[in-house]
Amino acid sequence: MSETFLIFVQLALVALCWLVEHYFPCVTNRGDSLRRLLSIFAVWISALGAVALCQAYLFQPLINWLAPLQVLSLSRLPIPDEVGFVLSLLLLDLFQYLIHWASHKMPPIWVLHSVHHTDKHVTAATGLLHHPFESVFNFIVTVCFLILFGISLQVIVAYSLLSTFHNLLVHANVKIPARVDRVLRWFIVTPDMHRTHHSVRPTEGNSNFGQLFPYWDWLFSTYLAKPSKPVGQLRMGLPETTQARRFGPFELLTQPFYKDVLPNSNLQK
Ligand SMILES: [Zn+2]
Repeated sequence: MSETFLIFVQLALVALCWLVEHYFPCVTNRGDSLRRLLSIFAVWISALGAVALCQAYLFQPLINWLAPLQVLSLSRLPIPDEVGFVLSLLLLDLFQYLIHWASHKMPPIWVLHSVHHTDKHVTAATGLLHHPFESVFNFIVTVCFLILFGISLQVIVAYSLLSTFHNLLVHANVKIPARVDRVLRWFIVTPDMHRTHHSVRPTEGNSNFGQLFPYWDWLFSTYLAKPSKPVGQLRMGLPETTQARRFGPFELLTQPFYKDVLPNSNLQK
């Protein structure tokens, strides 16, 4: 599956979610103005361009440098292929959980990740909103992890596809019946769980860091089952003082360099 095809599939999925969000919204004020969507798309295109440059110029050098330092080869462990596949998938998801946790705890990464959290209207399109420097950082550390732990190509492809589609669905502003959500939470991070993570309240923003699977939040005690209000009533985004004022592409791309992003961000506490 080519990357261009994957980009179009993501756009189609955002459009599909937009329809579902229209008929079954979790929050009725969806804030899906054309301006907001265009700003998100502009930042997304910038991030795609930055990652494409990394793939062209950094990917091979990283393999050359790190291959001799490989810690272990998960794809060559003397275990059945299916077990190795699931083990690698879980380990890769644990690594993504740790990156996300670090993105909230380490100031230099938080200023980049804060752009994703600046959206006050969390919808499927929010899943595309990541600062190009954050995408580059994630690309580099993930590639390092894949090389050092010898993750197989099948696992990389499967996880990329799963996380790409799940990333859009988990941000979707859709109302899922409580009973269905309760069952889904045993297997996968649900939109309600992730909506809690986008809350402006520090205790809620510092919870539910999981990407695909909920198990790491359980294991590391960062799981928050019930936020302070029903998820549809939570205030999303960042404190007003750190919010990108006009939500334009320029404001979003320069937000990490505002001097007041760090001191006023209560997500750091
Ligand atoms: Zn986050």
